[in-house]
Amino acid sequence: MSVTKIETSIRFDNVGKQTGYLRVPYSSHASAYGWIPLPLTVIRGAAPGPTVLLLGGVHGDEYEGQIALAKMVRAFESKDVAGTLIVLPSTNLPAAVANNRLSPVDNVNLNRAFPGDANGTPTQMIAHYIEEVLLPTCDYVIDLHSGGSSLEYLPCVRARLSANLQIRHKTLEMVRAFDAEFGVLFRPAKAEPRTMSAACERKGVVYINPETGGGARVARKALQAAHEGTLRCLLALEMIEDASARRSSGGTRTATLVAGASLVHSDSDGVWEPLVELGEAVVPGQPLAAVYNLKKPWLAPQTVSGSIAGTVLCRRAAAWVEVGDCLFEIGVDFDPESA
Ligand SMILES: [Zn+2]
Repeated sequence: MSVTKIETSIRFDNVGKQTGYLRVPYSSHASAYGWIPLPLTVIRGAAPGPTVLLLGGVHGDEYEGQIALAKMVRAFESKDVAGTLIVLPSTNLPAAVANNRLSPVDNVNLNRAFPGDANGTPTQMIAHYIEEVLLPTCDYVIDLHSGGSSLEYLPCVRARLSANLQIRHKTLEMVRAFDAEFGVLFRPAKAEPRTMSAACERKGVVYINPETGGGARVARKALQAAHEGTLRCLLALEMIEDASARRSSGGTRTATLVAGASLVHSDSDGVWEPLVELGEAVVPGQPLAAVYNLKKPWLAPQTVSGSIAGTVLCRRAAAWVEVGDCLFEIGVDFDPESA
């Protein structure tokens, strides 16, 4: 196995609070012997407890999680924590600074880069470091996402239905503790191996992926969902005793995704009008969107219909759309206990 070239001055086993960087070596035109800094905070309490990796900004243009984790980095000291928090608020900082889903350094999507490559591009090196250096030390990963530039989400938590029943049980506990409106549990299509979720499955780590908000902006409700949901998970794991983190209401509705049907795509180019809202119930054949050709306004818009009954969890944020762009994601009510 290749050894990582990413370095840090932080000692993961030390009790206390340490802040610093993961240093990703990158020899560029402007900086021949330079490294890319990824801000890292490790808070280890003297009291025993699980090790939790908190990630924001795996996609650079998803800012709710990045701000929520920055707040947590400032709020907690070693004495407040049982166990260890490893926090990377902006996991792919170059992408976040560029307001882009992908890293501008190598044009790679970190959440499609696993298991990564110790000798690859910077984003591939980050993926390798997470999978081979961090995950083997972790019990849980909370990976805060949102819709980014192209999508907007109803606050929900996504997680895979693990084949390992013990992991599945702990995953469900975290989904419910986060207390979003929806918990979306599914088996990834075509056994996708390149995601953080797949990396966690390989390493036997419990993984949840909250999706709150989107549109490459920070909405108060979405930020609050990301921040308070993460606190509720840490409270459920008995790692913190933060009085501001209210317990879960137990009100999360569970849903799943149907391959080939949950995602609704446009089959024409133009500007689109949503005919349904986030959170709305839809039925098969119902027109969900109208796509207008601005150059030929006398033509009737193309309507796009769905093929399943469920709830609209996600919609496209941008007005312009092309053939193949995702307009909606529809979740179908589902009891994970029966799966
Ligand atoms: Zn994302």
